[in-house]
Amino acid sequence: MNKEAEKVKVLIVGSGPAGYTAAIYASRAGLSPILYTGGQPGGQLTITNDVENYPGYPDGVMGPQMMEDFRKQAERFGTDVRYGMVTSVDFSQRPHKVIVDDKDEIIADTVIISTGASAKWLGLESETRLNGKGVSACAVCDGFFFRKQTVAIVGAGDTACEEASYLANICDKVYMLIRKDEMRASQIMQKRVTSNPKIEILWNTETEEILGEEEVTGVRIKNNKSGEVRDLDVNGFFVAIGHQPNTQIFQDFIDMNEAGYIITQPGSTKTNIEGVFACGDAQDHVYRQAVTAAGTGCMSALDAERFLAEQELS
Ligand SMILES: Cc1cc2nc3c(=O)[nH]c(=O)nc-3n(C[C@H](O)[C@H](O)[C@H](O)COP(=O)(O)OP(=O)(O)OC[C@H]3O[C@@H](n4cnc5c(N)ncnc54)[C@H](O)[C@@H]3O)c2cc1C
Repeated sequence: MNKEAEKVKVLIVGSGPAGYTAAIYASRAGLSPILYTGGQPGGQLTITNDVENYPGYPDGVMGPQMMEDFRKQAERFGTDVRYGMVTSVDFSQRPHKVIVDDKDEIIADTVIISTGASAKWLGLESETRLNGKGVSACAVCDGFFFRKQTVAIVGAGDTACEEASYLANICDKVYMLIRKDEMRASQIMQKRVTSNPKIEILWNTETEEILGEEEVTGVRIKNNKSGEVRDLDVNGFFVAIGHQPNTQIFQDFIDMNEAGYIITQPGSTKTNIEGVFACGDAQDHVYRQAVTAAGTGCMSALDAERFLAEQELS
């Protein structure tokens, strides 16, 4: 190690809505938190354009601007925001040991994990190019932009079915593109989409390319049985093939479900390790919204503050 270990009461890992909200509460409580931003300062919202469903912005706000506002608010109360990646942790004893960028050691009385989750993508060049310009991984977030229009959604699990049904309430038509001739989704969810007249399911269908220069104008699909290639006119393209929580570095210590989402005690953000709390998408595979991430970020700061008071460390 290059430097002597630094000591902190509250260490926040991640700079999305959950991490910054935890930082606002912890710094206003006089706990002088350090927050590490990770590789995506501001989190997932920095790759989207308009956010219209976060309370307090009546005219909507651009995702990057909103996260800039979060950062400024956290810094205003004294949060030490640092660019760096937590690369390993040792939660085997208290206080907890956290290594940043493989070199700097931090000794933390409490750790708040707010490392979020990353959407899985198909991996097409056109998908990356048109991300935020008609391509989205979140129907609840972006479906409204395509009201009364035609969209396509890729995925065959419960979430894909739920998102397709959500889109069908807003859009005129929803194509559901499914690679195989069956779905992974539960029977009840399958029934919900197959019985919806606005949803057309295209089986054995692969996405070849998303079409459009400045915005999505269509999608080129291929039937992997017949080889037939054709273009569908769509304005929006949704990817619902799953999310990967960014929790791998904690897996030796923290209880997680089989998908890697951190398990928290009901009604709190406590993990199985005393003094380690988790908030936001890293522990939430159900809601995955900025406002719910912020809500649990607030909870984790309050949980950390109470823990420190109980331990007489604050
Ligand atoms: C394209 C898109 C559009 C969306 N639109 C909306 C919308 O309109 N409204 C809405 O409510 N929600 C929207 N969402 C969902 C919303 O972005 C997430 O629910 C929210 O960002 C989750 O917040 P979070 O703080 O838990 O995690 P994230 O925003 O995912 O942030 C995670 C943070 O952790 C950091 N990190 C990860 N690993 C490490 C590490 N090892 N060390 C340090 N830091 C680390 C990352 O750098 C990042 O800063 C959208 C999502 C996407 C992808």
